[in-house]
Amino acid sequence: LDILEEYLEELEVDIHTNCPINANDIEHELNERMEPVFLIENENISLNASKIVVSTGGITYPSTGSTGDGYRIASKMNHTITDIKPGLVSFNVDDFLLRSLSGLTLSDVELSFKDKKKKVSVRGDALISHFGLTGPAVIDLSNLLIEKSKFTILDDNLNQKDDDEIENLELFTNKINIDFTPDMTEEDIKEQITKDTPDKGKMSIKNYMKKFLPANFIDYFLMKINISPSKTMANITKKDKNKIAENLKRHPIEIESLETELAKVTIGGIKSKEIDSKTLQSRFVDGLYFAGEVLEVAGPTGGYNLQIAFSTGYLAGQEAANSLK
Ligand SMILES: Cc1cc2nc3c(=O)[nH]c(=O)nc-3n(C[C@H](O)[C@H](O)[C@H](O)COP(=O)(O)OP(=O)(O)OC[C@H]3O[C@@H](n4cnc5c(N)ncnc54)[C@H](O)[C@@H]3O)c2cc1C
Repeated sequence: LDILEEYLEELEVDIHTNCPINANDIEHELNERMEPVFLIENENISLNASKIVVSTGGITYPSTGSTGDGYRIASKMNHTITDIKPGLVSFNVDDFLLRSLSGLTLSDVELSFKDKKKKVSVRGDALISHFGLTGPAVIDLSNLLIEKSKFTILDDNLNQKDDDEIENLELFTNKINIDFTPDMTEEDIKEQITKDTPDKGKMSIKNYMKKFLPANFIDYFLMKINISPSKTMANITKKDKNKIAENLKRHPIEIESLETELAKVTIGGIKSKEIDSKTLQSRFVDGLYFAGEVLEVAGPTGGYNLQIAFSTGYLAGQEAANSLK
């Protein structure tokens, strides 16, 4: 921030903070020389500009100041706003016993959902929380799932819909699977159990499962598949073995809802096709540029969204400035 502020100071840029500008405050006209000009006026500010860059962010996580004004500004200038959805979210899961394991990390698992016959998956860490599931793999899977789901959280006036409507969003699917052993097949697991049984006949299945699962998750896992944790390896039946292997590879979880309040990014935005990708200038209005999350672009976790904001901000700023020379 200090570096950016130093640049602004050097370039003698006027900064107006706490000064929201909404769609009604902007008029686009031609001046007396027939050049396009934007008139910006409200109780806090009054200025004319030949170029503007709209970088007002998305609509999710409103405490950052982003409340969707950019969509309404773009729409006023005839741009299309694609379906707007919360992205990079956690999942609420209505399973008291799972949630009671809050704080437990499921390391290097594969999370997936079915899209017709195709498996859509993400590998990484998942975390059990007091509301359900979170962590990098969950958050990245949420984007893939939400992109496939057909809904928008905006009403016809491009304002956010009521909370209860957002709470009941219909997802492409509510069923996801956890694969606890992504490097082993179901057959590998069964063979491993068969191979280990003669030496470990007296060992409880609960103890043996430490080979595959975090210790604190085992009771929950065995309860879900109806196998007593005290059962010894010698007493494990073929049916038990099949159930264990199947559930290690495809442990089903039902998503109750999305934890939308903590959505880290907005999926959807100003339609990309209506913006020149080389300059980020509107194809409809000369002098109007867009940058950042307000655009129809969203990335996974790992800094991609900040990079999108930095790169598009740099490009739009350069292009707007160069076109004035
Ligand atoms: C909790 C959280 C964690 C995140 N973690 C990561 C991460 O680890 N990696 C990553 O890549 N991304 C992350 N993101 C996403 C990333 O921060 C955003 O994608 C990025 O900041 C978008 O930049 P932006 O400049 O387009 O919008 P924003 O950063 O949202 O900035 C928009 C600005 O415009 C202002 N504004 C809005 N409306 C108006 C108006 N009408 N008039 C004047 N000003 C207005 C807002 O006050 C705000 O200052 C995270 C987001 C959140 C919320």
